[in-house]
Amino acid sequence: MKNFAQNCERIAATPKKLEKIAIVAEFLKSAPTDEASVAAVFLSGRPFPVWEETTLQVGGALLWRVVRELSAKSEAELTAAYRKLGDLGAVAAEVLSAQVEAGDPAHPTLVEVQTTFRTIAAARGPGAKGALARELLSQVTPLEAKYIIKIMTGDLRIGLKESLVEEAIARAYGATLSEVQRANMLLGDIGETLRLAAGGRLAKARMRLFHPLGLMLASPAASSEEALSYFENSLVEDKYDGIRAQAHVSGDEVRIFSRTRDEITESFPELPDALAGLPEGVIFDGEIVAWDYGEEDPGRALPFSALGRRLGRKKVSEQLMREVPVAYLVFDVLYGNNELLIDRPLSERATLLDELLARRSTSSRARTHGLHQGKLSFGSEEQRLNAQVIRAPVFNASSATELDQLFEAAQARGNEGLMIKDPESAYTPGRRGKSWLKLKRELATLDVVVTAVEYGHGKRIGVLSDYTFAVWHGNRLANIGKAYSGLTDAEIGEMTKWFLEHKVEDQGFRLIVEPKIVLEVAFNNMMRSDRHESGYALRFPRIARLRPDKSPEDADTIETVREIYEKQERSS
Ligand code: AMP
Repeated sequence: MKNFAQNCERIAATPKKLEKIAIVAEFLKSAPTDEASVAAVFLSGRPFPVWEETTLQVGGALLWRVVRELSAKSEAELTAAYRKLGDLGAVAAEVLSAQVEAGDPAHPTLVEVQTTFRTIAAARGPGAKGALARELLSQVTPLEAKYIIKIMTGDLRIGLKESLVEEAIARAYGATLSEVQRANMLLGDIGETLRLAAGGRLAKARMRLFHPLGLMLASPAASSEEALSYFENSLVEDKYDGIRAQAHVSGDEVRIFSRTRDEITESFPELPDALAGLPEGVIFDGEIVAWDYGEEDPGRALPFSALGRRLGRKKVSEQLMREVPVAYLVFDVLYGNNELLIDRPLSERATLLDELLARRSTSSRARTHGLHQGKLSFGSEEQRLNAQVIRAPVFNASSATELDQLFEAAQARGNEGLMIKDPESAYTPGRRGKSWLKLKRELATLDVVVTAVEYGHGKRIGVLSDYTFAVWHGNRLANIGKAYSGLTDAEIGEMTKWFLEHKVEDQGFRLIVEPKIVLEVAFNNMMRSDRHESGYALRFPRIARLRPDKSPEDADTIETVREIYEKQERSS
């Protein structure tokens, strides 16, 4: 752990990506494989591999209490240190120094630290967990405590992402980056990936179902003409306004993951039954939408706002399921017939998807009908509780006129616009390319991260309603604008609470906040400007909506901003 913490300090000290990778590679290579395997997991900012889904269930407040007790500092002293450093791990390194110098630190290995993490995860209740955390932290040096706490809170803050750890593994063991990425994607375990790399066995990695894969993302297109400039023929679907969902199915086991890779199966208890029944493992990609089952088959999508009541809930009552019925619109298949399908062209995946869904519907529909003995009519109560899994209809278009007609039809059906896809394209997890294009109502919106908030004026006087937001510029956030309209009073109230709990620095009227909240902002046009760090400013920015389904990494980049600006200049 000591060596690990020292290396983390070195990684944090250099802003250069290549140097960071070199330090990690050298460290991994010099450690025994068992240690290196755990190090890879810790360096990705996690106590355990992704696929395990084990969580410590130790909140910041509990760790705060442990650090306070161990350091014997007052609440005010600790708060002052936190204000200055903005990170509990760094605070611990500062306030614990006096206490440990006298003692005799145990310098546990990384494997031992992870074993203790497992004991903490298995312990019940904050009392037991707190005692174990306290014991661990009391035996280590302040520098080790700093990184143990950072791993426990899930953020190392040394400018290292899992993708850089992948690069370091490739470098340390002489593999290519894509071999490492592929194994890590299939296994959901960077530690196991490292073991395979160390043994020269990366090609042996096999898909592990029930851990989420990254989702393929779309780029905005300003017009039908632009969309068709990337590929001639296109497969076109409606753009449904709901939440992205990746479903893993094997026999009767079904689990659904959101775009932030969180499991959301419990929020949609009506979906697993509708998906179950496929004999071999399958991974689907699609959108969960609030659905009006109405009279016509198969019904139609309701606006995103209708789905709001179903989001972020662990338990869903039958009444809520009836009030806000949902459907799962499936548009892709990533794994099926015991095979990873992401490298196949979309046109082939689409055919396979039709076949798989046809097989599922005969088995699961037969079961549903059996249950209700033919009483099932469209729009009935039973139908609502047995949500539909619907193959998102696909259209072909090869001219702007055809696309325009499809766009109007999609909007007439109440959908947001179109998704225009290259039939030849592979599925690229976690990447935003030009193989999927989104054509929406607004000319352009940006997904941005809130970096600072201010108290409002007039009726917004006691609430934090003015948001400064940023886009990615390399691996840092560059502010691009400020907006204060678009959210409801209830949303502003909730956000105020969140921001107060997640402030990094209090500047009186203004708070610098943890960059975690993603907003979609609309605007009239864009200008070059020195007012903001990004070098651009938005005219009449307004918050289109909160995007709790997106994580900060999903926000737009300065390259997208530049593209929108150049497009606007060309067309004006
Ligand atoms: P946006 O959220 O505006 O960046 O648009 C991309 C999102 O549209 C995807 O992440 C999906 O959640 C959603 N979406 C809706 N319909 C489709 C579709 N037919 N194909 C792909 N994505 C879709």
